[in-house]
Amino acid sequence: MAEIFYGKPVAEKIRLEMIQQAAAYREKGIIPCVTIVRVGENPDDKAYENRVFRNCEQIGIEGRSLELPLTVRQEEFLEVVEKLNGDDSVHGVLILRPLPAHLDADAIGRALAREKDIDCMNPANLEKIFVGQKDAIPPCTPEAVIEILKYYAGDLTGKHAVIVNRSLVLGKPLAMLLLQENATVTICHSKTKNLPQLASSADIFIAAAGRAKLFGEEYVSEKSFVVDVGINFIDGKMCGDMDFDAAAEKAAGITPVPGGVGPVTSMLLLRHVLFGMQLNGK
Ligand code: NAP
Repeated sequence: MAEIFYGKPVAEKIRLEMIQQAAAYREKGIIPCVTIVRVGENPDDKAYENRVFRNCEQIGIEGRSLELPLTVRQEEFLEVVEKLNGDDSVHGVLILRPLPAHLDADAIGRALAREKDIDCMNPANLEKIFVGQKDAIPPCTPEAVIEILKYYAGDLTGKHAVIVNRSLVLGKPLAMLLLQENATVTICHSKTKNLPQLASSADIFIAAAGRAKLFGEEYVSEKSFVVDVGINFIDGKMCGDMDFDAAAEKAAGITPVPGGVGPVTSMLLLRHVLFGMQLNGK
């Protein structure tokens, strides 16, 4: 029976480190601050924003909300971004996505100062991940996978990781982060042949296909560490890409959904605010 790799202790460790860092800034008279830019009043966006602000409060980061009308024009949005870039009291900016179709999200991401880009919208951060530079601000979910693996599995050197996902937001940057940890990486996708054999022969299996309960016991072995990144819903109930019960019966360890990758991802978003401050010489 697998050990359950809960995200909570990993998130808690990061939270406690951040509380100390934020307090140190406050002692110097600098109040770490994140601004969330939201277009319109979508209740899901507002709920997400409130969750981020609750975490901010616990850590000692100021959270500001900037709501733009649904009719906001591209030039107006870019002006807002420029203002935030130049505002020394704002250290991180989160632009809630997806943006309305009339806006060019790529151009907006490129306009955002790299050091304030806490959710990897600016391709300059992705580029740094691919080059292997330590001053990159990575996308939160791939980074959360690494944090969980390091917390529960320790040193990843020489471990073989199989990732099911080749997207630019998930599988590709995750592969680069795993390489930085000296893991050996195989990226898989919908055209991969013999996926069960590949996956079950790996030390680490990262499931991020976005298909509910797709991967059963044939994708794992007794040595597998499984990280389930999928967020799916069956009859309104959240589940991952793993057939959890079947995989947990056999694997060495597995993250649950919910309660695995998600809580770590939310903490890392705010860690990026503090990291961005360091990058800016604060
Ligand atoms: P995506 O762009 O749709 O990518 C899915 C990937 O899985 C693609 O590479 C696809 O292959 C592959 N795939 C799909 N079905 C497959 C199958 N039957 N066999 C093998 N490979 C298959 O999705 P995404 O945006 O990267 O997100 C993936 C999942 O992660 C979603 O469930 C999403 O909700 C979740 N997610 C979670 C978090 C978190 O914080 N936990 C954050 C972001 C996303 P092809 O390239 O060949 O199409």
